Parts: sequence; structure tokens; C-alpha cells
Amino acid sequence: MDENMCNIPVNSGVKIPDRVSVNAKPERTFVKVGGVGFGGSDIVIIAGPCAVESSEQLFETARSVKKGGAKILRGGAFKPRSSPYSFQGLGEEGLMLLSSVRSETGLPVVTEVMDTRQVAMVAEYADMLQVGSRNMQNYPLLKEVGLTRKPILLKRGMMATLEEFLLAAEYILNQGNDQVILCERGIRTFEPSTRNTLDLSAVPMLKSLTHLPVIVDPSHGTGLRWMVPSLAKAAIAVGADGLIIEVHYKPEQAICDGYQSLSTNEFAVLMTDLKKIALAVDRDISLPLPSNA
Ligand code: PEP
Ligand code: MN
Repeated sequence: MDENMCNIPVNSGVKIPDRVSVNAKPERTFVKVGGVGFGGSDIVIIAGPCAVESSEQLFETARSVKKGGAKILRGGAFKPRSSPYSFQGLGEEGLMLLSSVRSETGLPVVTEVMDTRQVAMVAEYADMLQVGSRNMQNYPLLKEVGLTRKPILLKRGMMATLEEFLLAAEYILNQGNDQVILCERGIRTFEPSTRNTLDLSAVPMLKSLTHLPVIVDPSHGTGLRWMVPSLAKAAIAVGADGLIIEVHYKPEQAICDGYQSLSTNEFAVLMTDLKKIALAVDRDISLPLPSNA
């Protein structure tokens, strides 16, 4: 028998585009967002509300997640909502709130950009631009964010293969911007009990194919608050370089995605658990020293 027939493919035949490939660049890309780095031994936790709703909501949530150990604040000012009648976000007012919360807390901010016409404006306020799941194959948008010199958080399309995901990242790198973080956020399957099916096998697979950092969103990945901690821990165990988690100071009153948002207390408890998992896989999560104040 031909002994080659026993060879097991390392990666199920995914064709890796040039620039994102580990073959092109064996050392891992370190993505810097403000003073925070993704892709090193420290695991970075991004947290905050789904949408920026008000000054009080954003300030209160940001102060709490910072205390819990989050290094970056999330919050959508432009929201991609399934229904045109749902809250669409505060727009530029939301961006201004993010910018003032950054001034107060020192947390860099990440927020979504949905439209090529808004890239310049969003880039003026944000430390990192998020391209959402619904826009992963919006090629003009990928090219436009590739022309900025801001780090890009690229979420996996909910029906995208890993090859398509890497090709989307390649569009950004092709414009000269290699500061791209890939985010697994769940895919659509036949299973209706969770909002999406969080594809954790994507993490080791992507890390074997690309030098870019890979993070996981257990909030959209499950759609269920009680499940977020388990999947967050599992994501770190399989090698994620970071997490993005929805947290709200009053989840029951959230305008958007409250059912999958952790309370600030739940987040603080989770962070201490995540640190234990990180240490078990030879990584770390730096947590603030407990204050006596
Ligand atoms: C979000 O992060 O708020 C969001 C809309 O995520 P996704 O694009 O993954 O649905
Ligand atoms: Mn959300």
C-alpha cells in the first residue's frame, strides 16, 4: 500500500491566502490597541455593553469592567439590527461618549463600523474598528478599513468557512494594514437551542493557519448569559488570545442583548476563574490589585 495514503492532512485542505498565512510569516503578529497587546502570552479581555445607550450606562459599566480586569471597553454606536424598527445606536453621540469614557478610565475602546462612509468618523474616536459578522464579506468596507492605520477586529461571518474568513482578513492586509484580530463569534447551524453554535475548533485551526491573533465572543456565540462563563473558560483552554464579552450594569434593562450580557458582578467572578484557566495553559491574565478603598 502506498504509505502516503496513511497521511492525515494537518488542516482539512484549507487554502490559506498569502499574507495571513503562517508560511509567509512564521512569527506571530502582535496587535497593539492603545497600550494593550494581543498575541503575546497575556490574554486580553474586552468587555462592555452591546450598545452605547447613555452616559450613565457606559460610565458605570466601564468603571466596573475595568475593576474586574478588562483591558479594553466595547460598545456599539452603530448597531446592525435584524429589524429596522429596533434601536439602531446613538451614532456619533455614542462615539463621543466612548471617547469621554476612555479619557476618564484610560481604557481603549472598540466599536463597530458598518459603512464605508463612516470609517473616517469612527476612526477619529475609536482605538480599534470592529467589522461585524454581517459585514465580513463587505469587500469595499474591508478595503476601506485596511487603508486606516487602526487595528481591526474582524468577526467571522455567521455562515463563513475559515477559508472565507481568512480571505476577508487578506483584503485588509492587502491594503497595508496587518493589525488584524480574528474573532470567532458562533456560526449558524441546525441547532436552535443556542443563538449560534460557538465553533471553538476554529481557534486551534486558525492559529495553525495564520499568524494573526484569534479571540472568541462567547456572548453572541451562545446568546445565553448562564452559558457565557463556561464557553469563555473553554475558549481560553483551546488557545484564544482574548475574549470579547458583553457586560451591562443593569442587564435586565439593556436595550440590546441584555439576555446574553453578564452583570458586572458576574463578570468580576468570571475574571478570577479565567485567570486560573490561563495559568493552567501557560498564559496569564493580569488583574488589578484589589483596592482597599
Ligand atoms: C456585536 O459585537 O455587537 C455584534 C453585533 O456582533 P456580531 O457582528 O458578531 O453579531
Ligand atoms: Mn450584541
